[in-house]
Amino acid sequence: MSATTVEIRLDEASSAARWARARVRWRERLLDLAAVVLGPWSTRSGRNRWKDGAPIVTYHRIVADPDPTTDPFAVREAAFEAQVAWLAQHFSLITVAELAARIRKRKPLGGTAVISFDDGYDCTYRRALPILRALKAPVTLFVATGGLDRADGGLGSAQLAELAAAGVEIGSHGVTHRDLRTLTDAELEAELKRSRERLEESAGVAVAGLAYPYGRFDDRVIRAARACGYDHACSCRQHRPNEATTALFCLNRLELNLGDSRRRFLGKVGGRYARVYEAWYRLNPATRAWLEA
Ligand SMILES: [Zn+2]
Repeated sequence: MSATTVEIRLDEASSAARWARARVRWRERLLDLAAVVLGPWSTRSGRNRWKDGAPIVTYHRIVADPDPTTDPFAVREAAFEAQVAWLAQHFSLITVAELAARIRKRKPLGGTAVISFDDGYDCTYRRALPILRALKAPVTLFVATGGLDRADGGLGSAQLAELAAAGVEIGSHGVTHRDLRTLTDAELEAELKRSRERLEESAGVAVAGLAYPYGRFDDRVIRAARACGYDHACSCRQHRPNEATTALFCLNRLELNLGDSRRRFLGKVGGRYARVYEAWYRLNPATRAWLEA
């Protein structure tokens, strides 16, 4: 390869990265702008029930210095520490199973919140657990068992057992992290059963909760999850907190990502982004049914 070819390739790579960064910047600005426009309106309309409900926040990866173009679902370790400290100070923190039990018993949810993790990366063990332990904050971890013991950052079976022994609630996130709606009945059953068996075997605890990969589900997926013995399941619907009337197989969760400044984090947890997500679900045919579910 000649020097000119290398230069052109490097040039293309850096301009692609510049574009990717610009796209991320604009997406983040639009999200905040939409919240400025729609946020106050949701409070005025009296439909803001966040104070009486319980938010479940969701993290994926905790990284020291993530790249916004390749790692949008990671959260900086320092931001994570500040966010969970704020949550521990302002809410009574419980696990997803405890929240489900409260809903079943029609107990009030106001003032409670849940911290959850998806996928099962080893940073949950290395970075998040020490912070959560220091705060004595409970946490629920949903693991896609196909990623267990994988060399590229997957949680190890021994780490999973240690997390469970430390009191971390373990739930299933399927085996292969596929959209459960797209699977045949047999594949769906295998995802739900095998992931649960593997987790119970590796972690030595009973597994009662499920988080749908990508938050996607339909009636058939719910029926299958019930038939496989799950007690409750989490979506990624972000337009409502959990309330006494929330269906146990459609629990709502707020995703916290790299682009969330402290102001946006407080806005999300306070329900000021609810209308933004509601508008998005209405526009997107894949998520429109989430508004009624
Ligand atoms: Zn996931």
